[in-house]
Amino acid sequence: MTAKSDTNSNLSLTGDYKPQELEKEIRSFWEKNQIRDKLELREQENKGFLGYVEGPPTLNGVPHIGHARGRVMKDIRYRWKTMQGYYMPFWAGWDCQGLPVELEVEKLLGVKNKRELLERVGQERFIEECKKVIMRYYREWAEADSRMGIFIDQKKAYWTYLDSYIEREWQYLKHAWEQGLLEEGHYVVAYCPGCQTSLSSAEVGYEGSYKEVEDPSLYFKFKKTDSKDDYFLVWTTMPFTIITDTMLAVNPKAEYVRVRVGGEFWIMVRQRVEPVMQELSISKFEIIDSMLGKSLEGTHYDFPLSDIIPGQKDLESKNPMVHTVISEDFVDVNTATGVVHLSPGNGEDDFWAAQRRKVPVFAPFDDEVKFTKEAGVFNGVFARDADYLVVEELRNRNAFVQVKKVKHEYPTCWRSHHKLVWLARKEYFLRTDKINSKVLEAAERIEYYFDEPKNRFLSFLKEGKPWCISRERVWGTPLPIWKCEKCSQKKLVASKKELVENALEKVPENFELHKPWVDHVRLKCPNCEGTMHREDFVLDTWHNSGASPYARFTDAQFEEFVPTDFLTEGIDQTRGWANSLLLEHVILTGKAEGPYRAFLFQGLTQDARGRKMSKSLGNVLETTKLLDKYSADLCRFYMMRKCAPIDFMNFDLQELNRRPYQVLSTLYHLSRFFLQNAEFDGFEPDRYRISGNKILWDRVLLELQPADRWMLSKLQEKIEEYTQKLELCEFNTAVAILEDFVIETLSRLYVPMIRKELWTDAPETLERRETIYALLHHTLKAITLLFNPVTPFLSEALYQSVYRKLDPKLPESVNMENWPVPDEKMLDKDLMEQFEVLFKCVSLAYAARQQAKLKRRWPLAKLVVVAPEKMIEAVRNVEQLFLELTNVKDVEYALKVPDYVECSIWASASEGDVSIFLSAKRDETLLGEGIMRDLARRVQALRKELGFVPTDVLDVVHIAQLDDESQSLLQAYLEEMAELVRSKKVYLHGDHTLVEADWHESELDGRRIYLNIH
Ligand SMILES: [Zn+2]
Ligand SMILES: [Zn+2]
Repeated sequence: MTAKSDTNSNLSLTGDYKPQELEKEIRSFWEKNQIRDKLELREQENKGFLGYVEGPPTLNGVPHIGHARGRVMKDIRYRWKTMQGYYMPFWAGWDCQGLPVELEVEKLLGVKNKRELLERVGQERFIEECKKVIMRYYREWAEADSRMGIFIDQKKAYWTYLDSYIEREWQYLKHAWEQGLLEEGHYVVAYCPGCQTSLSSAEVGYEGSYKEVEDPSLYFKFKKTDSKDDYFLVWTTMPFTIITDTMLAVNPKAEYVRVRVGGEFWIMVRQRVEPVMQELSISKFEIIDSMLGKSLEGTHYDFPLSDIIPGQKDLESKNPMVHTVISEDFVDVNTATGVVHLSPGNGEDDFWAAQRRKVPVFAPFDDEVKFTKEAGVFNGVFARDADYLVVEELRNRNAFVQVKKVKHEYPTCWRSHHKLVWLARKEYFLRTDKINSKVLEAAERIEYYFDEPKNRFLSFLKEGKPWCISRERVWGTPLPIWKCEKCSQKKLVASKKELVENALEKVPENFELHKPWVDHVRLKCPNCEGTMHREDFVLDTWHNSGASPYARFTDAQFEEFVPTDFLTEGIDQTRGWANSLLLEHVILTGKAEGPYRAFLFQGLTQDARGRKMSKSLGNVLETTKLLDKYSADLCRFYMMRKCAPIDFMNFDLQELNRRPYQVLSTLYHLSRFFLQNAEFDGFEPDRYRISGNKILWDRVLLELQPADRWMLSKLQEKIEEYTQKLELCEFNTAVAILEDFVIETLSRLYVPMIRKELWTDAPETLERRETIYALLHHTLKAITLLFNPVTPFLSEALYQSVYRKLDPKLPESVNMENWPVPDEKMLDKDLMEQFEVLFKCVSLAYAARQQAKLKRRWPLAKLVVVAPEKMIEAVRNVEQLFLELTNVKDVEYALKVPDYVECSIWASASEGDVSIFLSAKRDETLLGEGIMRDLARRVQALRKELGFVPTDVLDVVHIAQLDDESQSLLQAYLEEMAELVRSKKVYLHGDHTLVEADWHESELDGRRIYLNIH
């Protein structure tokens, strides 16, 4: 792809790195030149397809920085894999339906509950409002994505509420239906009285749903039938469930005792006698006899409230096991009394215990979880409000022992925070318990990158409970099951077409696959010709989004892109999307295969103090608002660098402009430094080619210095390591590798070694300068490309204003470049080891100087390296460089410490088997040169500050206020200094006030001096 745009010409690198201004320009560059659209053309030509399905954010709120963190990880993968030549359908997707959206709209409409909603607002208007709300939030999300540089394709987005999507979602149900995995069942489900709908067991364990609540802590007793004074002692925090009590349960293997308390005998587990008596403040009690739990089985007890609950009387007549003791292993003997009461209408374990014994379920509740008339005096009372009424009734019947209040963790609705109630209800279930082994097998094969989330996910999946997918709500995918009013025959319809064809009456034009319109469609029963009505449920919203791998694609695309190569979402999606995707895919394909080959769970993002971001704390950082003030690149770099993706991240705004800014700004200035020098010498990138560790310039082979080869070798190593870390999703270590290369290898070590070679413009050193340009061009360009997934704005800016400026034939955008690959031939492990030794010796030399208070700028006559043979060899190989870096004129080597360094004019430092000795003798000539070099550096800095480019030649440099000694030491070096700072002349002055000039303050050895250049 060659360039057709000329819009890059106005991109240039200003003196300061101002990321926000630069990002604005780059955003408009991308838009004007439709860069993202052009990347889609890779669908025709690529080195392979990598599947991707967007985990759709729910459009019920404004995106915050926690969302942004996950989206950046996705974007990194996209940009990086695209540069590697792959095509990935990085297309957006939006979760539009379900409880979260409904509740948001209810809030906006000022509606308190479902009944009020249906009566006051009506379904049609409600659905229009839901659509308005999702569009409003969509605009927020699209803006945040654009600002953060998330290159997701918005035009190809999927929307989970569209008919086309819903029809394909129905295909999953059809497959389940045909395999006998979708059925109506009467099970105990978690039910939210606020939202008036049941929830799935996955939703119950959802992040943040357990809250500390206050409940009654009640001890009560049921009398053993036909006994004189024997009672079972029981404890509960939900007294209302006594209304639906059906059996008592004990643990078969535990030892139970009869305890005499006053004139009564209480039956409970032995190990709990002491603590329970203590809690009840009973000091006089006596254990009379003991028995195994199993032997209590079949014992009948008197249910004390039969006279006021007619349903309970019926129950007893239906099955002889009602109001008897059973034994079950699940009974916990380490809490309470070891005797539990069972309410199959209100508890899961209870329910299954009853099912196993064919004991009927008593669940006299309506949709608002109020008792019905079968519950007698409790008719019309909301379940949890019945707690204290029950206590009073027990008190009247000698069944009451004690009531206190207890605070404990209890599951609440993840959306509305009402206390959940467990209820036996008729619902539709996906019998995922029947395919659990396949699901687990599929899950085991998936790559999770980190062990902790993997274990968490697998242990959740092992629960393997049936999935309650029906919801008693409005704004969702309608359950496509129609039921005959005469013979109860059921029919599943899997497309709009099928529905229209089978409809009894002609379907109106504005018909869409939502309530209420879909409810108006009636079908004819194929069995008895009776009329069929739709079962009035919508689907769990997790089913809706979990259908995306099939529903968002065409059949052909599904074949190509699923299972996807990689997906990533928050750790809270273990029970959410990651789960529903997997279950639905196994149902759809019938195979032990996940719809994704790898899944990265991300840790959540918290505020700087480690607190969860929440509206009530006011600490939510909304993406767009944050980016009004801060740079997207800095945020991206910071979020990836700070911790591993799986870690919970504390987002601290204070940290943004520190290290991240330093790193990016260093890359920016290195690039600018390269460009200014290269342009001066008319550098043309297509004149060089790096092959192996040589540079071919036109047709001349240019020699590389050891430092050059070392730097190139380092680069190869870092490309390899960085790419590997990205593959492992260790973004923090990956980014640390780039950071280290820019700050340490390039800025602190390599560039200082070559910088002075670029100060001159002498023709005889042009070849060396060209070598350096080629090296810097090659290296900085590679680094710019490697940075692109993390900091796309800066990379594009550098790419346009440096590399494309020098070579307009390059691809139009940095995103169309090829990912750098390491060149084995440039990798030189021995040389890198030698440089390690070199840097070690240099730092020891610095340490020795520091000890003897010898400034680094003072050139010294001699240095002795005492080290093993191999290390000496390493330093000897790069001796010239060693002398320059240590600022010493001569070096000697020794295997043992020579006698002559034992006197006081030698300073030394050692580490391990290396020692460095420095001759500390003061040498006037060398000192003069030292001062000159030091002043030259200050002049260079001033040149830069005043905006002179390295190639500008100054007319004159004035230096004032030096002490007399320095002045006289310096005299012999003025000419050399003039050359060094690229000035025609250098003058020294005494008192700066005697000369009229625009003086700039500086300092030398703690003394204030003054500089003027022009
Ligand atoms: Zn709720
Ligand atoms: Zn029928």
